[in-house]
Amino acid sequence: MIDLAIRGALVIDGTGAPGIVADVAVEGDRIAAIGGSIGAAREEVDATGLVLAPGFIDAHTHDDRLILGGAEAMLCKLSQGVTTVIVGNCGISLSPVAFDSRPPAPLDLLGDARWWRFPSFAAYAGQLAESPPAVNALALVGHMPIRIEAMGGDTARAATPAEVARMEARLAEALDQGGAGLSTGLWYAPGGGAEMAELVALARCAAGRGGLYVTHLRDEGNAVEAAVAEAIEIGVSGGLPIIVSHHKCTAPENFGKSHATLAMIDACAVHHPIGLDVYPYCASSTVLRPEWVRPDIETVVSWSVPHPDRAGQSLAAIAAEWQVSLGEAASRLVPAGAVYFSMDEGEVRRIMAHRLTMIGSDGLPHDERPHPRLWGTFPRVLGHYARDMGLFPLETAIRKMTGLTAETFGLSGRGIVAEGAHADLTLFDPARIIDRADFAAPTRLSAGVVATWVNGRLAYGEAKGVTGICAGRLLKRGS
Ligand SMILES: [Zn+2]
Repeated sequence: MIDLAIRGALVIDGTGAPGIVADVAVEGDRIAAIGGSIGAAREEVDATGLVLAPGFIDAHTHDDRLILGGAEAMLCKLSQGVTTVIVGNCGISLSPVAFDSRPPAPLDLLGDARWWRFPSFAAYAGQLAESPPAVNALALVGHMPIRIEAMGGDTARAATPAEVARMEARLAEALDQGGAGLSTGLWYAPGGGAEMAELVALARCAAGRGGLYVTHLRDEGNAVEAAVAEAIEIGVSGGLPIIVSHHKCTAPENFGKSHATLAMIDACAVHHPIGLDVYPYCASSTVLRPEWVRPDIETVVSWSVPHPDRAGQSLAAIAAEWQVSLGEAASRLVPAGAVYFSMDEGEVRRIMAHRLTMIGSDGLPHDERPHPRLWGTFPRVLGHYARDMGLFPLETAIRKMTGLTAETFGLSGRGIVAEGAHADLTLFDPARIIDRADFAAPTRLSAGVVATWVNGRLAYGEAKGVTGICAGRLLKRGS
């Protein structure tokens, strides 16, 4: 008797190939067989009329802390069919630095000082080994924590050679302890002082340990093309794969620039490994900064330390009520987060449809009133963009959240339904799947994901919700 048989589903294997109706057998944490006669199982699932896909890989998350919080905390991802998350993005990672006071923005997106208690990657990995997560995780090492540590908080300037050497030592140690690569957030103040020499030195350090270079670009607006060129130069000079995070061209004067940025990425891809990810919405979300607000971009507060009751309110309405400028209102609200309606639908679709683009939520799980991408990204791509809009076939949509992502990040035996692969699986109803979270109700559960298995264990069922089983693992590149 095998452990689990999922019978009669349309199996879409994550490679982009057309689906086939087949039975799938799971033994332990692996897919044992795919075919018409797999024998009897201890647990039988009739999946007639449903799609069985590899568990979705969320290419871009800030779940570093969320995965420490037990199974129930992962409902937002398991209910979308997500079985693996990439954490440590945008130069923000919960290790290898501890803080004894509130860290500077945007590190505080992960929480205040209480949550910054992992002075080494090994300490973070140890916590995950002791209390396994409900989903698998691959963890990047953020540039900002090691930069702040090396420079004593004085980060507006270029680093000295001694400070760069200190960052390299800390990065090397974290990668040797299991980190998957270097992430940067050059748009943010603690990272933005970094010049090419520092970034190439760190990229080379990561390359020597088989790591990736994953970047929130220095600019996603007026200077987005220069920022893509910089990312390519860092990755090529450093000698390691490049991933451009949550690619977008923000503000109306920059709509259309993705024609140029995608052409640059295509040209790079001819000779060097490069990938990118996107979330399926026209609004971004991050910390609130007074210097970023402008009257033609609607801005909604997602959390505020001094004014928690303002979460969900428009900045313009708050400014009008207080009879101050938008910038002054933002100054009074910080530390705070916001949603910025700064993108063009055509650009989002063009980027999403690009052959190298993966799907990543960029969800912010600790926001009081989060951007709906946290709860809706994957069903939205499958239901809204693939099925209803016809932006690409279902097989392509699934590849963008499974096989392509596993290849790009170097996760072997995941992102694919194949004999011998890890049994990360998602069963969903292709007719019903859709996101339900929106900007008015941002934490509403998605519809249509019937079951989610992580390493062969049922983590979520549509009827029963989160099962409480924590079968996830901290993953390493190439294994
Ligand atoms: Zn980012």
